[in-house]
Amino acid sequence: MNLILLGAPGAGKGTQAKRLQDTLCIIQLSTGDMLRAEVASGSELGRKAEKLIQAGRLVPDELMIDMIAKRIDRDDCKKGFILDGFPRTVPQASALDRLLAEKKLKIDHVLVLDSDDEALVERITGRFTCVQCGAGYHERFQRPKVDGICDKCGGTKFSRRADDNAETVRARLKTYHEVTTPIIDHYRTKGVVSVVDGMASIDEVTRQLKEVVGK
Ligand code: AMP
Repeated sequence: MNLILLGAPGAGKGTQAKRLQDTLCIIQLSTGDMLRAEVASGSELGRKAEKLIQAGRLVPDELMIDMIAKRIDRDDCKKGFILDGFPRTVPQASALDRLLAEKKLKIDHVLVLDSDDEALVERITGRFTCVQCGAGYHERFQRPKVDGICDKCGGTKFSRRADDNAETVRARLKTYHEVTTPIIDHYRTKGVVSVVDGMASIDEVTRQLKEVVGK
């Protein structure tokens, strides 16, 4: 099964993609995570992407399409994948259609997490991640059970994303509404779109998503 998780920054795509990955045994492909790894490695792509990410702007389509084309070709995508953060523009969606058609694959569901912008700014600016295992937390809504210690792996180092500040978040939200939401109509014509309430509790959103994908 091939899925796209779509939603504004902070709507919960990453959290839900990880949960669906565990339930469906298909891999999460987060283009944001891939780009952050490129930035950390100091690669040419990373150097190109770094300033754009920090300004809350999108990385050019051709770079993203090339990156995802190579990634989907790897063996761990054979059983299916969950795209998290891609496509983000209509040209990316069209390129993905062509890419999948060549491989005789298709997108089974586009899962849209509906959300409220003001709540998202609060969600994003409070979030942090365990450096060791990547588990996500929030200063108000989802603190570790013991302060300073990761529930999942016992790690004690946490980090925040450089682009999770209020100014960049507003730019990212603007981009989402202007450039990304038109792709919902692109997929509506294919009859694969389902919208769930991304402001519900994490468990409730997971329940609704599983219902849509038949699990
Ligand atoms: P995310 O982790 O999905 O919020 O992505 C973080 C940042 O990476 C975005 O704000 C963009 O600058 C960049 N990025 C991630 N995915 C894409 C994409 N599909 N197209 C363009 N830029 C992207």
